[in-house]
Amino acid sequence: MRALVTDIERGATFDGPGIRTVVYFKGCPLRCLWCSNPETQKLENEFWDYDGSLYKGNKNPCSGCPAANSLKQVAKDMTLEEVFEIVMKDENFYRNSGGGVTLSGGEILVNSGFAIELFEKLKEEYVNTAIETTGYGNYKDLENLAKLTDTVLFDIKYLNSQKHKEYTSVSNEIILENLTKLSKWHKKIIMRFPFIKGINDDEKNIRQTAEFLKKLNLLEVNILPYHTMGLEKYRKLGREYPMKTLEKHTQAELDNAVGIMNSYGLKAKLYG
Ligand code: SF4
Repeated sequence: MRALVTDIERGATFDGPGIRTVVYFKGCPLRCLWCSNPETQKLENEFWDYDGSLYKGNKNPCSGCPAANSLKQVAKDMTLEEVFEIVMKDENFYRNSGGGVTLSGGEILVNSGFAIELFEKLKEEYVNTAIETTGYGNYKDLENLAKLTDTVLFDIKYLNSQKHKEYTSVSNEIILENLTKLSKWHKKIIMRFPFIKGINDDEKNIRQTAEFLKKLNLLEVNILPYHTMGLEKYRKLGREYPMKTLEKHTQAELDNAVGIMNSYGLKAKLYG
């Protein structure tokens, strides 16, 4: 079994408890305007173009010509065994810190078959597992993967389906339905709310989101403030950054969002 992997980050202290290794897979059905990992969106491999030569027209640079030197494939085509071997290098750190392995994307459900087999192997070694998901995919795949997952980090972006479609390219019915089903049995779901100025930060959306999560008894929410760290990636991919404004929230605005969510009985906090 193989998958396109854009990055394997060892020693991470985010995306789940303890010290972790985070594996980023390629492929995502969403197109969030604020996406900071645009290299994970397309299913097929692409090139980083460090000096712009590819996007100036050298579509197929020969291996010897100068343009080829500035190109590097975005993702590596890896076998399950290769990924397993790398993530197991930090086994001792996982044991000592309560950490483990997190699978991210892109959308991990795009690579659910690979993820399930990898987690089956990791569970044989008693490694803690986490996934980061938008929840947009086949529920059976999500369920099968979540059964092997200790912590599910589940994104929630906009409660209004039309707005969700406008800002991410897909409506949210499948996502909310999958989340509702998952919430009935999974023991550890942490919600993640990417908080984007002028997009999903209106009080109505914050309140609707809080009400929905409270109803499902999903109390843990991480509010993720907007950042512009992905900007350079768009340039290297020869793509335009889709967000019209780069404005960030003030601390007071972020605290206000946390306060509103907590007034519904949630345990919201700022993250990152
Ligand atoms: S779900 Fe994540 S990877 Fe996919 S487009 Fe949105 S931000 Fe990017």
